[in-house]
Amino acid sequence: MTIWNPWHGCHKISQGCGNCYVYRRDESIGKDASIVSKTGDYDLPMKKNRQGQYKLTSDDGVVFTCMTSDFFLEDADPWRQGCWDMIRKRCDLQFYIITKRIDRFAECIPPDWGDGWDHVTICCTCENQDRADYRLPIFLKLPIKHREIISEPMLEEINIEKYLSSDLIEHVCCGGESGNNARPCDLRWIQELRRQCIRRGIPFTFRQTGAVFIKEGKVYRLERKLHSSQAQKSGYSYVPGCNSGAAIKYQLPDRNELFAGLSRSDFRSRFHLTEKDKAYISEKGMDTIRSHAKDFIEKRLSPENPENDGKQTPMKGHPVFIAQHAAACCCRGCLEKWHKIPSGKVLTQTEQAYIVDVLMEWIERAL
Ligand code: SF4
Ligand SMILES: [Zn+2]
Repeated sequence: MTIWNPWHGCHKISQGCGNCYVYRRDESIGKDASIVSKTGDYDLPMKKNRQGQYKLTSDDGVVFTCMTSDFFLEDADPWRQGCWDMIRKRCDLQFYIITKRIDRFAECIPPDWGDGWDHVTICCTCENQDRADYRLPIFLKLPIKHREIISEPMLEEINIEKYLSSDLIEHVCCGGESGNNARPCDLRWIQELRRQCIRRGIPFTFRQTGAVFIKEGKVYRLERKLHSSQAQKSGYSYVPGCNSGAAIKYQLPDRNELFAGLSRSDFRSRFHLTEKDKAYISEKGMDTIRSHAKDFIEKRLSPENPENDGKQTPMKGHPVFIAQHAAACCCRGCLEKWHKIPSGKVLTQTEQAYIVDVLMEWIERAL
C-alpha cells in the first residue's frame, strides 16, 4: 500500500474526530493541524524517476488518498480538481478515499465522473448511529463504483443493516480508538455489526481493538502495538464463503432453465390461474400485481427466519400466491432448493427483485 497526502490539516466535524490522530501527531510536534496546506507530495502520482517511469506503480498496491486530512474538505476546493486530473490519468492504480464529508461529494466530483470510476473506492465513515443515519442514505444515492463503510473509532453499537441490504456496500470495517484519551470500544458492538454483515453476505474486517477495549464487561487497556494483532487473533473478521457460518457464494439460476425445470415438475405444473385470478389481474393491472408481489416477498419471505416458514403462502386467494407455488417461491426451503438462495439469512434487494421478476414472468406466461 501507498499513502498519498496531497494536503495536510483538517477541521473536526463530528464525534469521531474527537481524538483525531492528525491533531494528536501535529500537537506532539507543536504544529497546528487546523491549518490546511498543500504538501510536497501533491503530485505524487505524476512523479517520475530518472528513467522517466512513474514512481508509483500498481505493484505498490492501493493508494490510500488524503490520510492526514479529508479529501472533501472545503479548504481543499481549489486543489481537488488537480487531484482528479492525476487520478484520471493514473487509471492503472487503485485509489482509496475515506471521508467524513460524503455530503460534499456531489459538488466535488469532476465533470466526467459519470456513474463513477472503476479505480476509485470511496469509503464513508460512521462512528455512531446518528452519523450512520445521516451519511449512509446520501452515500447510497451517489454515483460510486466501489463503496465501503468504516466505523472507526466505533463509539457505540450501530445498526446499518438496512443500508447493507442495498447490495451496494462491498466491505465493512470497524475498530476502536487509539491515543491517551481513547474512548472505549465494546466487543459486543463489533459482534453485532459482524452479525449484520454475515446476514447480508458482506465482508467484514475488525481492524483494531483500540486502546480501551471492553470484553464481557471487563475493561482492558492495550498497548498500541497490540491493537491490530489482538483484533486479528480474535478471528472476528469475516469473508463470505470462508468462515464457518458464512453465507455461501451462489448464482441465481438461469431463467429459461428454471422455467423448463418447473414445467417438468408434476407438483409445480399443477398450479394454474383461475378465471377469477385472471379477472383480478385485468382489473388491477400488472403494475399493481407487481407491487403486491413485492410486498408479499418482503413481508413473508425475506426475513432471516420468516414466520410460519413453509406454510406462509396460501394456496389460493391471489394470483401472486399461485405464481409463488408454481415458481417455487413459496417458502425458504423451496427458494433454496430451486433458486439456490440460502435459508437463514435476510433476502437482499437483488434477491427480492429477482423473485418478483420470476413471479411476474410466470404470470405473464400463464395469461
Ligand atoms: S475528518 Fe478525519 S482528518 Fe479531519 S479532523 Fe476528522 S478525523 Fe481528523
Ligand atoms: Zn415451499
